[in-house]
Amino acid sequence: MKGVVTRESNQYAVEELAIDPPKAGELGIRMAATGVCHSDLSVINDTLPLPRPCVLGHEGAGVVETIGEGVTGFAKGDHVVLSFTPTCGTCHFCLRKLPQFCANGLCFGPMMDGTVRVRDKGGKDLGVMQFLGCMAERAVVPAVSAVKIDKTIPLDKAALVGCGVMTGVGAVINTAQVTPGSSVAVFGCGGVGLSVIQGARLAGAATIIGVDLADHKLELAKKFGATHVVNGGKQDAVEAVKGLTGVGADYTFEVVGVPALMLAANNAARRGGTVVIVGVGKLTDTVPFNALTLSMDGKTIKGSYYGDANVQADFPKLLALYQAQRLNLDDMVTKTYRIDQAPQAIADLEKGLNARGVIVY
Ligand SMILES: [Zn+2]
Ligand SMILES: [Zn+2]
Repeated sequence: MKGVVTRESNQYAVEELAIDPPKAGELGIRMAATGVCHSDLSVINDTLPLPRPCVLGHEGAGVVETIGEGVTGFAKGDHVVLSFTPTCGTCHFCLRKLPQFCANGLCFGPMMDGTVRVRDKGGKDLGVMQFLGCMAERAVVPAVSAVKIDKTIPLDKAALVGCGVMTGVGAVINTAQVTPGSSVAVFGCGGVGLSVIQGARLAGAATIIGVDLADHKLELAKKFGATHVVNGGKQDAVEAVKGLTGVGADYTFEVVGVPALMLAANNAARRGGTVVIVGVGKLTDTVPFNALTLSMDGKTIKGSYYGDANVQADFPKLLALYQAQRLNLDDMVTKTYRIDQAPQAIADLEKGLNARGVIVY
């Protein structure tokens, strides 16, 4: 099978790989679609320090092909969306209804039992991103990382729910709990930012302001529900948000992972407002919040990981919204690629050309 492997900083390539059958508690998946996400790029450029060599891919959907020992609840031919965090059901966090922080979720490379399933042409072991490594024709994944979905949903659209859409919509619905009639400002209008905009629309926000540096992304923002857009390269985004809302937005979202934008999101929120940090910055970056206003302005600054989702419940909810034509996934997929074109897909991501580029098999 073919898959995309990173072996050193800023390097990746499509390689011929071998994959074992699933072991106990695992599923073998024939991939149908894999979204190309900024986190894949963050692994390539070392923002996310994963051990190498590593098969990329963490936003995918496919069909169950083989079933490991002891797995219940799945049959061959089931359609699944993959979660980049397993939900083991028994750890400290899963027991407290916080499966997004599953204690098994931050292990990079091998599978949950510590062994690997994928090897390169020379027979060398390869790790996989987030137990998935689904930027490949096949993947072996923990059964607790798979969510069964309705077979009528096109898998190239469903794949997006596995990361970007869940992260963005979940940040609005689950983390911020945006209320009808409120005002929302989103800093960054890529795949996740557009999903925040869609979430704000679903939550009934009256004012939805998209901020980005690229005019083509601001056009997309309008298409997905932004009532106003601000090009931060042409005007002061914080002042623009304050101008449009009078006092600052009730809710602001930073989805890029840049300290200056995190500060801008904070400054653009009204006193007592909620600031949600979705973007993942570098481990060495810090954000210098003003020590006087942090207390006086009484804002709530919240991190949001994976849209604070319970994926087993939330993936089907988002896909039901898609089926009801209330969540637009069709227009999120701006371009599809074959696996051999993965380098082009990643280059296009770097240039910000797509709402989402998706590899189909
Ligand atoms: Zn992602
Ligand atoms: Zn757990």
